[in-house]
Amino acid sequence: MATVIRQTAGHYEVEDVPYGKDYTWCPDCVMVLCDCGERVELTASQTNCGCGVDHATLVRDELDVRKGAGTASCLEEEHDRWMEDRDEYLRSEDDYRREFERLE
Ligand SMILES: [Zn+2]
Repeated sequence: MATVIRQTAGHYEVEDVPYGKDYTWCPDCVMVLCDCGERVELTASQTNCGCGVDHATLVRDELDVRKGAGTASCLEEEHDRWMEDRDEYLRSEDDYRREFERLE
């Protein structure tokens, strides 16, 4: 039976780049110890271990539990906060909005 090692809430990763800062959206993910012995980082859209086992049920259960605890609204807040901070040269808000919605 595969085991969940830890969960990471969706967040923006900030990277220093020559023209300022680059923001990358990292979706909610779940670190799973697969039966094959591999540790794999899975998301709602990526639930397969390299060995071919699909952990979709496990991942969705984990993410659902966290959403039930109010994480979704936290993510919205973080997203809004990020929008206030972001600089003009970054991708348009529409691009991020689409990406954000796609990950829901
Ligand atoms: Zn595996």
